[in-house]
Amino acid sequence: MLHFVRDGMPMITVREALQHILNTVPLLGLEKTAITDARDRVLGEDVRAPRDIPPRTNSAMDGYALRAEDITGASAANPKALTVTEDIPAGHPSDKAVGPGEAARIMTGAALPEGADTMVKVEDTESDGSVVRIFAEAPLGEHVRYRGEDVKAGEIVVPRGTLIRPAEIGMMASVGRSSVYVYRKPVVAILATGDEIVDLDEDPEQGKIISSNTYSLYSQVVECGGIPRNAGIAKDTRDDLLAHFRAALGADIILSSGGVSVGDYDFVKDVMKEVGTGIEFWQVAQRPGKPLAFGKMGNTLVFGLPGNPVSSMITFEQYVRPAILKMTGHRNIFRRTVTAVLTEDVEKKKGLRYFFRARVTYADGEYRAATTGEQGSGILKSMVLANGIMVIPEEVTALKAGDRVIVQLLDNSLFCDAEPSYL
Ligand code: AMP
Ligand code: MG
Repeated sequence: MLHFVRDGMPMITVREALQHILNTVPLLGLEKTAITDARDRVLGEDVRAPRDIPPRTNSAMDGYALRAEDITGASAANPKALTVTEDIPAGHPSDKAVGPGEAARIMTGAALPEGADTMVKVEDTESDGSVVRIFAEAPLGEHVRYRGEDVKAGEIVVPRGTLIRPAEIGMMASVGRSSVYVYRKPVVAILATGDEIVDLDEDPEQGKIISSNTYSLYSQVVECGGIPRNAGIAKDTRDDLLAHFRAALGADIILSSGGVSVGDYDFVKDVMKEVGTGIEFWQVAQRPGKPLAFGKMGNTLVFGLPGNPVSSMITFEQYVRPAILKMTGHRNIFRRTVTAVLTEDVEKKKGLRYFFRARVTYADGEYRAATTGEQGSGILKSMVLANGIMVIPEEVTALKAGDRVIVQLLDNSLFCDAEPSYL
C-alpha cells in the first residue's frame, strides 16, 4: 500500500515492513557449544543415541530378582521360600544366573541377573541372608526396567530445530554429548547518534541527554539471544556517522537510533546509502516509530531506529526481535497475543497502526487492558509501566471502553502465580 512518497521512498505498512525484513534475514550458521551453555539456543543437528537407554535391563526397586513362576500364589499366609544366590549393588553387574527356586538380592538401578524376570520389593520379603521368604506374588516383569525402554540405539532423541530446555540438555547428556551444534548468535552493534547524547560515564550537564537507548536496546538484544556491542555515540555530522557505521560493519546487525527523521542533521539515511546497498525502506505507517529505516551494508543488516526512547524500543520489539529469532533458528518468533477488553476510551489518527503501551490484567476468564498513561514517544515511563503492547489497526480512529483489542504480551507475568494455586 503506497501512502505518500518522500525522498523517493514510499511509506509502507507495518505488514509490508515485517514481511520485507523476515524475507531478507539469513539463517545464521552453526557453532559448537557446551551443553551447559546451550539452554535457549536452537539445536542445529539431529542428536542421536549411540546406544540403548537404559543400557541393561535393571531393577526399579530394592528387593529380590527372581522368576515370576516361582512365586505364583505367594501371600503372607503362604510365603514362598527361595535360596538367595548373592547381593548385587548398582554398578556391579553379576554373571551368576538365577535358577529355579532362587533369588538375588538387588538394588535399584542394578542390572538384572540372567534367569530373573521379575522384581519383588524388599517390603514384601523377609530374609535371614541365605533364604528369603516372599509374601506376595508378582506379575511377570514387575518393577523391571528394560534395556532400551527409554531410548533405542540410533534413535533421534532431540531433532534439529528444537529449542533447548533443561530436559533436552539432560537427554543430550544421557546419550553422551557434552557439546552440540546450535545456530550461532548474531553480533548486534548498537550505535547512538546525536550531539545532545552522552554515555553514562560522561557529564550530562548543560542539557545533555544520557543514551538510554544504548542500554534498553542492549538488554533487548540479550533477551532475544543476540550478542550486543556498544558502538558508541556518533555526532550529527556525516563524517562522524560514517566513521561509526564503518567501524561497526563487522557485526551481523547494526542498530542505530536517532538521526533518521527529516531534520537538517538526520544523516543516517545518507550514510546508509553511501556505505551499503542503500535503504530498502524508510518510513512505516505506525506510531510510534514512523521514521524507521532498513537496509544492508554488505552482509550487515542495518536498522535505522528512531531516536525517541519509546520508538526505539517498540520498533525493536516489532521488527528486530523477530528478525534475530528467525536468524537463530527459532520457530516461534512472535510474542504471545491475547484479546483484551479495553477499560478506557482511546483515540488515534487514521492511517497509522498504533502500538499503545498497555497494562494487561486477567480476572474471571477475561483479559483487560488500559494504556499506561501519557503515550508520547519520549515518555519512557509508558514502557516501564507496560506488560503489553496494544496493537490498533490503521483504519480505526476511536475505541470505546468495552471494545476488544489485541495485545502483545511482553512477559509471562500474567501466567505466573505468586502462590501455588493447588496447595
Ligand atoms: P532524533 O530522531 O535524532 O531527532 O531523536 C529523537 C529524540 O530522541 C530526541 O529528543 C533525542 O534527544 C532522543 N534520543 C535520540 N537518541 C537517544 C538515545 N540514544 N537515548 C535517549 N534519547 C535519545
Ligand atoms: Mg538526533
